[in-house]
Amino acid sequence: MNRSTPGMAYLRGAVDCHTHVCPHLNGRSVTVFEATRQAAEAGMRGLGLMDNFGNSSGFAALAMAELGHLGVEVFGGIIMQPVAGGVTVEAARTALGYGYGPGTGARFVSLPTHHTRHVAEREGRSPAYLETTFSVPRSGKVPDVVLAIMDLVAEANAVFDCGHVSGREAVALVEEGRRRGVTRLRTHAARYAEDEIRAIVATGAYAEFSFFVLTHATQVGLTHVDQEKHRSSGLTIQDMAPKIRAATAERAIVSSDAGVFLLPPPVEAFREFLLLLASEGFGDDEIRSMSAVNPAALFRIGSAAP
Ligand SMILES: [Zn+2]
Repeated sequence: MNRSTPGMAYLRGAVDCHTHVCPHLNGRSVTVFEATRQAAEAGMRGLGLMDNFGNSSGFAALAMAELGHLGVEVFGGIIMQPVAGGVTVEAARTALGYGYGPGTGARFVSLPTHHTRHVAEREGRSPAYLETTFSVPRSGKVPDVVLAIMDLVAEANAVFDCGHVSGREAVALVEEGRRRGVTRLRTHAARYAEDEIRAIVATGAYAEFSFFVLTHATQVGLTHVDQEKHRSSGLTIQDMAPKIRAATAERAIVSSDAGVFLLPPPVEAFREFLLLLASEGFGDDEIRSMSAVNPAALFRIGSAAP
């Protein structure tokens, strides 16, 4: 890629808040350091590290210590998968403080991605596995441990991320988060119904849409969290565009969700996604809002300690 490659202008000042470039069980396209350098070359402002195996704020702090001068704010957080400590107050509290000094701890605390009933059922996991997964009961009553975690997140002014729950569960979680004073809320909305997305953004939460689900990476079995390989169903940009419009450009966030060996490195994946959005009729201002303004506001880009 060079500066004249189509779509490079979209990347200037952009924030890709969802990459998987931390160490993994399977191959990665780039390391955290390489992803940071590539983001800097493209003129990007922020890079979010997501890791299904542990809290990524340490990797982010390390990248900032080594490459912070390049001008990309690298940030991390915890996905509360079982191997990362599970959905526990202790895992969340530790992540929020884990870094190289004040301001370098987790910027987000996420419910599980794969260890949810919603995803585990889709993956055809065993009844014994399902028994241990996270879910919000039909009553909509959010489990007490999550309420305690929400309070910690609100106090730290961090992002509460609903993980890969169903649309119904995400609505219940953001409404509860709002009631408890969590002002930064993130959902992963690519597979949610439009009315669920409207209910989510009505609370002030953000709805994120990622490139991964549009790609060939959905067509093969991939190791996401353990020895099992799973395939997910893909979407087309035509499936996704009305959902993004339901979220509105003020509340939608777009991200690459790249890092897996099968896809181009995050910066290139993000460029392709933004061009795809443009081809679907999203205007420059809308793309700027969803790829730069909104993720920067949500994750407090610019707030890192010097
Ligand atoms: Zn992801």
